[in-house]
Amino acid sequence: MSEFDICVLGGGPGGYAAALYAASAGLKVAIVEKDTFGGTCLNRGCIPAKGLLQAAEVYRNVQHADGFGFRLPKGETTVDWPAVNKRKSGVVNQLVKGLEGLIKKRKIEMVRGFGTMNADGKIVVDDRVIDAEHVIIVSGSVPKWFPGMEPGPRVITSDQATNSTWETLPKSIAVIGGGVIGVEFASVFVDLGVDTTLLEYLPNPVLPIGADQEVAAHVAKSLKKRGLKAIGGAKVGRLTDNGSSVTVPYEVKGKEQTLEVEQVLVAVGRRPLSEDQGFAEAGVQLDDRGFIEVDTATMRTTRDKVYAVGDVVNTPGLAHVAYAEAIVAVRHILGEDPVPVDYGKVPWIVYAHPEIAWSGMTEEQAKEAGIDYEVRKHPWPGNGRSMIVGETEGMIKILARPNDGPIIGFHLCGPWASELMNGGYYAVNWEATPSEVAHLIHAHPSLSEIIGETMITFSGRSLHG
Ligand code: NAD
Repeated sequence: MSEFDICVLGGGPGGYAAALYAASAGLKVAIVEKDTFGGTCLNRGCIPAKGLLQAAEVYRNVQHADGFGFRLPKGETTVDWPAVNKRKSGVVNQLVKGLEGLIKKRKIEMVRGFGTMNADGKIVVDDRVIDAEHVIIVSGSVPKWFPGMEPGPRVITSDQATNSTWETLPKSIAVIGGGVIGVEFASVFVDLGVDTTLLEYLPNPVLPIGADQEVAAHVAKSLKKRGLKAIGGAKVGRLTDNGSSVTVPYEVKGKEQTLEVEQVLVAVGRRPLSEDQGFAEAGVQLDDRGFIEVDTATMRTTRDKVYAVGDVVNTPGLAHVAYAEAIVAVRHILGEDPVPVDYGKVPWIVYAHPEIAWSGMTEEQAKEAGIDYEVRKHPWPGNGRSMIVGETEGMIKILARPNDGPIIGFHLCGPWASELMNGGYYAVNWEATPSEVAHLIHAHPSLSEIIGETMITFSGRSLHG
C-alpha cells in the first residue's frame, strides 16, 4: 500500500482542483508546490489581471460620471498605481490564504519545494520520495519571448505586469502581441491614460486568433476610440533598452519603423514548463514544443499511472479547462468513466473593455469546415438594460445548423459578456436549437434579453430585433 493515492505536482488551478476533488472523493493526496499555492492564475495571471481591469473600469466610470449627472472636478482624478496594486494584491492574498486553508481542511499534505520525477515515476522533493500510487503532473507554463525581447527593467511579461513595482504608470508602453494577454493589458493601460501601442504579427491586431473576427472587431473599434494605436502585420525586431526608454524596431509591409516607449510588455504566448523535471527520462513523452502528450479521454501520459493536465498539456491554456481536465484524471484514477472535455466548445472570455466571450465555432471555422449554418446577430442598442448601464458597444452573434438545427457557435461582445455567455455555453454544449432557447423566458429588463430575442429571430419572427 502506498502512503498516498495521488501525488499532484503543481499547486495551480489544475493541481489544486485535482487535489481537492480527489480528497473529496476519499483519496489520500499530497500536493507539491515550489512557489505559492494558486499558481499563475492566482498569483500572476487571471486574478490579478482581472483586478487591474476592474480598477480600470472604475476609473473609466468616474471619467464618464458626468453623463449620469454627477459633476466631478475635471482632470482631478488621478491614478495612485501602488494603491491600485495594493487592492488587487489584497484580493490575491485572501484567495491564496483561503485555498491553503481548504487544502489543509481536506487533509491534503502540502509539500513545499521543487519536485522532480525519478526513474520509477515517483515525485522527489529534496531527499523525500513521495510514495504515491499515481502522479498528476500539473507543472503549468511560463511566458515566452523571442530573442531580443528578453525581460529586463523596461521589458516585462505578464508575470511582472500583474505585480509591478512601478511608483507611477509609464507615460508610454508598447504591447507586443494582440492575443488574450496583450489585449487585456492594452485595455487597462489605455483606460488609465497610458499612451499605448499594440504591435501584432498577424494582419488583424486585436485578437486575430480564436475569436470570431466580426465580433472581435468591436473590441478593436472601442480600444482605438479610447486611444489605442493598434498595428497589425508588425514584425518586431530586437529591442534596445536606452536606460530611460526602449527602442522598438518593427516592420510593416516591408517598411521599417521605430517606436520609443518607456516600457514594453511582451505577450507573445506561453510555453509549457516541462523541462528539468525528469519527465522525459521517466518515460513521459513530450512533443516537439515541450507539451506532455496525453490521451485526452483520460489525461493519461505515456507512462503508466502518470497523468498530466493544465497548461503543460497542449489544450486551451485556461484555468477552467485545467479544472475540468483534473476531474477527468481523478475520475479515471477512481475507476470511473469520465466525460472528456469537448475542447471545441469550452468557454472563452477576454476581460478587456468591452468584454468578449464565446463558445463553439466561429463563422470562420464553420466556413472552413464547409458546413451549412444560419447566423443571426444583433447590436446592443435595442436592449434597454444596456442603455441604462451605458454600455452599448459590441454585438451578439449566434450560429446554428439550418432549419432550427443545433446551435454551434455563440459569440458575445459587450457589457458583462463574461457572465452572460454561460447561457450560450449551455446551449452549444447541450446542442439546443434556437427554438428551444427562444421558448425560454429571459427576464425584463436584463442584458440577457439579447440572447432570447436573437434566438427568436431564427424563426423569421421577432420582437424588437
Ligand atoms: P496568445 O497565443 O493568445 O497570443 C499571442 C499573440 O502574439 C498572437 O496573436 C500572436 O500572433 C502574437 N505574436 C506572436 N509572436 C509575435 C511577435 N514576434 N510580434 C508580434 N506579435 C506576435 O498568447 P497570450 O496572449 O500571451 O496568452 C497566453 C495564454 O494565456 C493563452 O493560452 C491564453 O488563453 C491564456 N490567457 C487566457 C486569458 C483569459 O482567458 N482571459 C487571459 C490571459 C491569458
